[in-house]
Amino acid sequence: MAIVVLGGGALDTARRIQASFPDSQVHGLASRVSADVAYEDFGAHVRGLYVAGTPIVALCSAGIVIRALASCLADKGAEPPVLAVAQDGSTVVPLLGGMRGVNVLAREIGAALHVTPAITTGGELRFGQCLLAPPEGYALADIEQGKRFVSDLLAGETTRIEGRAPWLDDAALPRADDARLAVRITPLAASDEDSLVIHPRCVLAWIEDASAGDDIAERVRLAMREHGLAPLALAALTAPLHHMASESLAHAARALDVPLRFCDAAPFDARHARGIALHVHDAPVDVQSIGRARGTLTVIGLGPGSAELMTPAARNALVAAQDVLGYETYVRMSGPFRDDQRVHMTDNREELQRARHAFELASEGRRVVVVSSGDPGVFAMAAAVLEALDKGQREHPEWSAVKFAIVPGVSASLATAARAGAPLGHDFCVLSLSDNLKPWSVIETRIAHAGEADLVMAFYNPLSKARPWQFDRAIEIVRRYRDADTPVVLGRDIGRPAEALRIVTLGELTGELVDMRTMVIVGSSTTRVVGDWVYTPRWHA
Ligand code: SAH
Repeated sequence: MAIVVLGGGALDTARRIQASFPDSQVHGLASRVSADVAYEDFGAHVRGLYVAGTPIVALCSAGIVIRALASCLADKGAEPPVLAVAQDGSTVVPLLGGMRGVNVLAREIGAALHVTPAITTGGELRFGQCLLAPPEGYALADIEQGKRFVSDLLAGETTRIEGRAPWLDDAALPRADDARLAVRITPLAASDEDSLVIHPRCVLAWIEDASAGDDIAERVRLAMREHGLAPLALAALTAPLHHMASESLAHAARALDVPLRFCDAAPFDARHARGIALHVHDAPVDVQSIGRARGTLTVIGLGPGSAELMTPAARNALVAAQDVLGYETYVRMSGPFRDDQRVHMTDNREELQRARHAFELASEGRRVVVVSSGDPGVFAMAAAVLEALDKGQREHPEWSAVKFAIVPGVSASLATAARAGAPLGHDFCVLSLSDNLKPWSVIETRIAHAGEADLVMAFYNPLSKARPWQFDRAIEIVRRYRDADTPVVLGRDIGRPAEALRIVTLGELTGELVDMRTMVIVGSSTTRVVGDWVYTPRWHA
């Protein structure tokens, strides 16, 4: 859920709402307020959220929201809940998304703010919502049929309830045992004009054999149909642990839109199974309590520091994460976290240990994210995590079953270059001047070769207290190949509040000007200065 604010005045109310919705994030207009997610243009941003199906709570007038979303409304596709909330929290107005529970949401937000929401839908006021938006574990069979059913009730009809619908016990429904209409709670595929059919998600499928290329989803659908079961009654696919890395299973679970869980043995008596066995429980299944999910390990790059330079893919991985690991500074940069997220902060030097820990957590079925600054593949955790896998997979075969991914980020050299112009506009190389993990002689050789090849050089880790003389020595080597007036870009804390950019010449460059938070870009023979900008032309003589 996105809580969207236009300015600092609404932040307090936004945080009060957020406290009741652990999955939500506060989105703030970048120029006016610092929030969890920054945006530049209100209209474009809320339209993007709407189209992506994200529930929107906008802390501004209803009119602003309506005008912003107007162009999206003709398409009646997935309509997420949209609410306008007064900046001071005095009013909650559900606007869109009646079928996706906007009124339930309005009540919850109202409760968080101690106000009564301004609910305007007639059916909802009487009994619509509790019928058309059944609770978790149940699925409405057909929304159009549902709307007709509610209209009939509003027009004065009565209804019976067949099956177990505990959430309707206290609902003010016009019940009658001899009613023509019926609310039917059943896993069976059923369609008749006079019923509102709701399927409990109570069917488990056990896939004993998941050979590649096999269309498992289709087999499950067929098996369900043979037993007269509705596809929506399926709660989860379950499979033996050794199938954890199976792509066909993952694909089938996505196609069927159900969770996939792995167990030592079938979670029910599946002796008669030929490939697929089904089991119908008498109530919705608590999927989390069955076996475990395939764990995921995602290594992400946060970018240089500011929220706007973090990719949406990295942000999504953080939102989905159950465990976040990394060096303390970077973990702090990736917050705030919800109460249900576990944070593991470590010292910067314990990289392999952190990587092993990440695999251990992911092997238990957790969604794990390892954070790096910039890009995770540039002098950072991605290579450390793969090294841990390389060294540990014999001893820990379960690590290989983890779903592994790397999400790129904006590396410090790219962020610094962009602030300065286009110093990396032609061939360049990237070097770390740290001799913690390689001998200093290798660094000297590489600088000399880069100098001779006339490459622009981007230096990471230029200098630290433990390495006081190395930087001046490196520059001495560069000077053998470059004129003293070669432009040099120094970017410090780029994308962070203390950002500072300096352009100097190679002649002026000394270790005094740099530290561990600086990115150094030394030009080639063609790098030039134009006004405040530095660039390297795309050609080379
Ligand atoms: N993975 C990171 C680099 C880690 S090495 C990335 O892709 O950016 C750490 C070095 O990166 C620092 O010593 C510094 O040279 C550089 N660096 C990282 N963040 C920076 C920033 N915001 N501004 C300037 N330099 C930065």
